[in-house]
This record gives sequence, structure tokens and C-alpha cells, in this order.
Amino acid sequence: MKIIIDMEACYGCRTCELACSYHHAKVFSPKLSSIKVQRNNRTGKITWIIDSTCDFCEGEEEPLCAKFCFYGGIKFEK
Ligand code: SF4
Ligand code: SF4
Repeated sequence: MKIIIDMEACYGCRTCELACSYHHAKVFSPKLSSIKVQRNNRTGKITWIIDSTCDFCEGEEEPLCAKFCFYGGIKFEK
């Protein structure tokens, strides 16, 4: 599976962090997320990374970060 990131589409809402933590621990806690989204408050620039704890949402019907990104910032390709 391949993760496709569209930084132009990302609003920095951090919903993907919550979705990811729910996958891992069934709680909404950004610190338990494989994705870390950061916004530079001075420049407005958004950056994010996916770390090695990402298991591509094993056991879910589809990757939750992509499912709950309403702006099209994350997509997955098989
Ligand atoms: S990738 Fe999507 S869900 Fe994540 S911060 Fe960007 S807009 Fe929000
Ligand atoms: S695909 Fe990876 S980064 Fe996305 S929600 Fe699942 S574990 Fe987290």
C-alpha cells in the first residue's frame, strides 16, 4: 500500500491524528498517533510525518486517516 499526501489540500485540522490514535488504542489522543501534524504559526506552513508505528490500519476496512480526512489530504493506493 502506498500513502499519497497532498499538502496543498491539507488544512492542518489534525483529524487524521485522532483517527490514527483511535486505530491504535481506541482513544482520541494525538500523542498515540503515527501521524504528527504541525503548523508554523508565523508562516502558516503545515508539515507532517508518518512514523514507523503505522501499520496501514491492519484490521480496519480502510485506513482511518484517509477515511476521516475530509479535505483529501491523505489517500492510499493499493
Ligand atoms: S491530512 Fe487531512 S485530516 Fe490530516 S490534518 Fe490535513 S486536512 Fe486534516
Ligand atoms: S494508515 Fe497508518 S497513519 Fe493512517 S490511521 Fe492507520 S496506522 Fe495511522
